[in-house]
Amino acid sequence: MEKYVNELLNFIESSVSVYHNIHLIKAILKNFNYIELEENKKWNLEPNKSYFVVRGGASIITFKVPATQEGFMIVASHNDSPSFKVKPNGELNSGSYKKLNTEPYGGMLISTWFDKPLGIAGRVFVKTKEGVDTRLVNLSGHNVVIPSLAAHLKGNNLELNLQNDLLPVVGLTNESNSFMNQLKKVSIFSEDEEILSHDLFLYNKEKGCVAGFDNELIISPKLDDLECVFASLEAFLEARPESNISVCAIFDNEEVGSGSNHGAASTFLTDVLERICDELNLNKYVMYQNSMLVSADNAHAVHPAHPEKSDPTNNVHLNKGIVIKYHSSLSYTTDGISAGIFKAICDKAEVSYQDYTNRSDLRGGSTLGRIQLEKLSIKALDIGLAQLAMHSSNEVAGSKDLKDMVKALKEFYQTKIILENSNIIIK
Ligand SMILES: [Zn+2]
Repeated sequence: MEKYVNELLNFIESSVSVYHNIHLIKAILKNFNYIELEENKKWNLEPNKSYFVVRGGASIITFKVPATQEGFMIVASHNDSPSFKVKPNGELNSGSYKKLNTEPYGGMLISTWFDKPLGIAGRVFVKTKEGVDTRLVNLSGHNVVIPSLAAHLKGNNLELNLQNDLLPVVGLTNESNSFMNQLKKVSIFSEDEEILSHDLFLYNKEKGCVAGFDNELIISPKLDDLECVFASLEAFLEARPESNISVCAIFDNEEVGSGSNHGAASTFLTDVLERICDELNLNKYVMYQNSMLVSADNAHAVHPAHPEKSDPTNNVHLNKGIVIKYHSSLSYTTDGISAGIFKAICDKAEVSYQDYTNRSDLRGGSTLGRIQLEKLSIKALDIGLAQLAMHSSNEVAGSKDLKDMVKALKEFYQTKIILENSNIIIK
């Protein structure tokens, strides 16, 4: 198997919700002796140490402080994926079925969620003697299912209704096992506790695998964007920067516009960068001039049945290298300067790259980079890896691209960018 692919598939399998993903990343960082910082306490940062900070239990920023600090090299990605969120008071009896009342989270390919074993995971908030406690839960022992209407009953044009057609069946009404009882079993530890609220989501329980006669493909849930989360974290851990503070930022809520208090539209990243500058007595204006942000989020490869959906000259392919994304209206942050710098970095790392634009008559998605630039004025570009079936419950990517992404981002973290008049010096 290609380098890192097995680790990526295990990483995705363990990330049953964004909260579990953060729990996993924290464990990895702690294993490497990273120091956890809390936003409501004073920080005492020192050179040659590494840190991380979590906001909202769902987004994380980790950074390394080298002996000298001349700029920030930042990679941002997102850990959420389209899914269904369980509503409060979610249990719903309907005829002989016990169902869960859910609503879509993000824009998924709905048909791909039918007729497969789904899990429920996330976090619950429990009233305890001291106050409110957060507990991660995964009802892993219980599959639920959204059954499709049989071909014979459907006719040709049944339009799916989000409230009626997409609620998972969790059992039959004559069974005594209620959803809340299941939830209590895994989250309540003593009799005087009670569940106050929850953030619970459905997830596809199928584990990712490699595919293709030469194992050149990966099929897995959540490749958008856990593939870039994994690659940026791996590159960040492997990199040995000498004079830049390397930052790996992973945000929740990208799929619903990033508008939470810990999403990319919040002040989380700027707050952390400013606190680092304050703590280490660095001039933030000078630091920002020597900094760069890479927004890493997957891109659409040419589809085998629909090549006409891709741009005629800037179409991208699986296993052909890192995708650099451009958009004249700045949905992507890349410009000539940032693309030039990143291509020079890829050349240094001996990694191939390909240019991507949307067709002019198709609107593509926006990304984290654009949202960050509204608050942070630094050089930026949007990249990703080519994939198919974006927002399906199982997505498809190339198995050779992952190691190239790790290699390029590692080189990026170790690079020093200096502006001298109109020249950009890359070391
Ligand atoms: Zn994405």
